[in-house]
Amino acid sequence: MASKFQAPRGTFDILPEQARARRRLERAAAEVFGRAGYEPIATPVFEDTDLFERGVGKSTDIVRKEMFTFEDKGGRSLTLRPEGTASVCRAYLEHGMQKLAQPVKLHYLGPFFRHERPQAGRYRQFHQLGAECIGSDSPLADAEVIMLLSDLLGELGVPGVELRLGSLGSFEARRTYLEDLKAHLHAHEGELSKDVRERIDINPLRAFDSDHEGTRGVMGSAPTIVERLEGEDADHFAEVRALLDASGIAYVIDPTLVRGLDYYTRTIFSFVCDRLGAQSEIGGGGRYDGLIEQLGGQTTPAVGFAAGIERILLALDEEVAGEGRDAFVAVADPEQRQRAMALVAELRHAGASVELDLAGRSFKSQLKHANRIGARRVLILEADGSAQLRDMESGEQRAVDPGNLVGEMTGEA
Ligand code: AMP
Repeated sequence: MASKFQAPRGTFDILPEQARARRRLERAAAEVFGRAGYEPIATPVFEDTDLFERGVGKSTDIVRKEMFTFEDKGGRSLTLRPEGTASVCRAYLEHGMQKLAQPVKLHYLGPFFRHERPQAGRYRQFHQLGAECIGSDSPLADAEVIMLLSDLLGELGVPGVELRLGSLGSFEARRTYLEDLKAHLHAHEGELSKDVRERIDINPLRAFDSDHEGTRGVMGSAPTIVERLEGEDADHFAEVRALLDASGIAYVIDPTLVRGLDYYTRTIFSFVCDRLGAQSEIGGGGRYDGLIEQLGGQTTPAVGFAAGIERILLALDEEVAGEGRDAFVAVADPEQRQRAMALVAELRHAGASVELDLAGRSFKSQLKHANRIGARRVLILEADGSAQLRDMESGEQRAVDPGNLVGEMTGEA
C-alpha cells in the first residue's frame, strides 16, 4: 500500500534510471570544466539571508518572493540558497582568493531552492551547475564562460539550442538608460500589467520579461540599452562578439534580454532550447563587475553562468540504460555462501562489478536473476567445491580451476 507521504510540492525523487542520466551529465561537465582549468568548489546549502539580499538584490523576484527563509535556534535569519554566484563570491572573499593568481576559475553543482509555482521545468528544489571566472575584466573571460556552456551542451548533444547575447552596459550607463526606460513605462502606464506597473521604479528591466500582451506592446517600442552602448561598454561588447565569431559559436543579439538578478553589468547571455515549452531557458549568466564590492570586497570584475540540470535532462529526454554487471556469483548449494561472499569481495576489490543473491533464491532463480540484472558471466560454485563459468551471451559453460577463480574472472588464468 502506498504511504500517505509524498515528496513536498515542487520537489522530486531522482530514481536510479534518472540518476544514471545525471551521472553522465555531471561527468561531462567535470570534463569540460576541468579541460579549461576551472576547479571545483562547494558551498553550504544555506547562507545568511543578508548575503542574498545584498548579492542577488532586494528588488528581484527571487529575494522578494521566492526564498525559503527561516530562523535558526539562535534567532539568525538563514536562507536556502536560491542561486550560486553570491555564495561563490562570499567564499572567494572569505578565503582570501583575491591573493591568488587572477582570475580564479571555479565551477560548482548542487541543489538550489526557490519558492516558485511548480510546473514542467520549474521546481522548488532544482539543481544547477555553474562556473565563475573571478578577477578578469577581459572580454576573453566572457567568451570563455560562454564557450564552456556551449561546449557542454554540444558534447551532451542537447538539440535545438540557441544562444542569445546582450549587454547591460556599465552601472553608470545603465542608470541613465533606466531613467529613460522608466519615463517610457510611465508614459504608457495604462497599458501595462499590474505587476509591471507597480515595479516601474523598482525594477523596470523586468518589463521586458513580461508575458502580458499590453506590456509586450509597450516594450516593443521601448528604448534598449544595446542600441545605446558607448565607449568602453560598446568596445567590450564588440570584442565579445568578435571572440565568439572567431571560435565558431553562433549567437543572436537580443536587445530585450534581461536576467532576474540585479548584479549583472555589460555582457549577459542565455541559452534557450526549443524543446522545452514555456520554461525554455537552459542556462544563462553574464558579467557581474559590481558584486564582490557589494559584498564588501575590493572592486573585482567577474563573469559566470548557471544552467539547470533538470532542463538539460528534459531537453535530452533520455534515460541511460544500466551498465549491467561483469559477473554474478551463484551458489548451487547454500553451504557455499561464505565462499561466494569472499570471492565477491575479492572480485570487487579487483575492480569488477559483481553481485550475489541476497534473497535466498533457488539455484535456477539465481540464474534468472543474473540475466535480469545484465550479468555478462555467472560463476557457479558447486556443492563439491568445483566451479563452472557460464557466458550469459553465448550460453557456453565450462569448468574452471576453483583455486584460481579471481584469475579466471579477471583474465589472468
Ligand atoms: P538563474 O539562476 O535564474 O539565472 O537560472 C539559471 C538556470 O537555472 C535557468 O536557466 C534554469 O535552467 C535553471 N532554473 C532556475 N530556476 C529554476 C527552477 N525553479 N526549476 C528548475 N530550473 C531552474
